[in-house]
Amino acid sequence: MRSMEISTTRTTRPVTDDRLAEILANPGFGTYFTDHMFTVEWTPAEGWHGARVSPYGPLTLDPATAVLHYAQEIFEGMKAYRHDDDSIWAFRPEANADRMVRSSHRLALPVLEPDDFVQAVEALVSVDERWVPPSAGEKSLYVRPFMIATETFLGVRPSQHVTFMVIASPAGAYFSKGPLPVTLWLSTRYTRAGRGGMGAAKTGGNYASSLVAQQEATANGCDQVVFLDSQDLTYVEELGGMNMYFVYADGHIVTPELGTILEGITRSSIIELAGKLGHQVEERKISIDEWRDGVTSGEISEVFACGTAAVVTPVGSLKWGASADSGRPSGETPQVTEAGEVTMKIRRALVDIQYGRADDTFGWMRRIC
Ligand SMILES: *Cc1c(COP(=O)(O)O)cnc(C)c1O
Repeated sequence: MRSMEISTTRTTRPVTDDRLAEILANPGFGTYFTDHMFTVEWTPAEGWHGARVSPYGPLTLDPATAVLHYAQEIFEGMKAYRHDDDSIWAFRPEANADRMVRSSHRLALPVLEPDDFVQAVEALVSVDERWVPPSAGEKSLYVRPFMIATETFLGVRPSQHVTFMVIASPAGAYFSKGPLPVTLWLSTRYTRAGRGGMGAAKTGGNYASSLVAQQEATANGCDQVVFLDSQDLTYVEELGGMNMYFVYADGHIVTPELGTILEGITRSSIIELAGKLGHQVEERKISIDEWRDGVTSGEISEVFACGTAAVVTPVGSLKWGASADSGRPSGETPQVTEAGEVTMKIRRALVDIQYGRADDTFGWMRRIC
């Protein structure tokens, strides 16, 4: 496969050094965007063509653009890290590229070859290299590749014009004072995915459907919502955008099996990392009762969620409403106020690899520049 030819047009008005320093001192998340963006377009006749890095700016879309109506869209999320020697690295970009191929099959979008995906990410991050924050303080450059249906057509069929883009945004440390445990709301009114649905695809629609459940969580004083399987409302799936982990007092670790959940790259990495750290890891169904009873009895000693944005987030407690079906009253598991030992050990091991402070024994890091 011939590699993609990328043209580069640099902005004539890059951010000033002073303004950039100000932004990187306190980047937040998803607020500021780099000077450039990557674009490549697809049609059935031409395939992928016109790959380019150009100055960051708004898109002009016809109001009848397909994605605006039928949500034929997929995306990815990954980070680039600056190491102490100022080199810049991506964490497992090939895994994001492979996942986007799987998502594109589910959303009837064309396949972008993984090599081209990685090349696009590298092209943008190299041009906007100065936007990658200094290594201190666990900052990074969040990279957002996405693919949208850009045909102007209101008929319902796969779009015959598709656009793939990459944008990037500096990201601060998710937690300023170390990871603080979050409270989860157990959603029984809403689920995020059904059998044969698109739960395993990284697509905006899954996020759109999670928002009202997140509102319910907030209204009940919780930070995040956790979803159960849609079939039986019995088995733990995941949060709106993070996978779940349960640490047992005897040292073994359980994470919900794949199927209707999103296969997180952080999740996959933790399976390997925890194994290397001496924990037996099981991928299996875990029921909500096993969770409730386990943390109450002490059999489950730590619960955490994971994903690229926050890496690892400890779960402080789980709250639920009264259930007419089971007759169960509303309640809450005992409140945990500090991140657990195993949670923090796994988090540190992962972050140390990402920032080049530990040997990359799995070959996960890819040097960009
Ligand atoms: C992206 C995402 C995750 C986390 O995946 P990572 O690759 O670890 O960032 C988990 N759940 C959902 C629904 C997601 O979209």
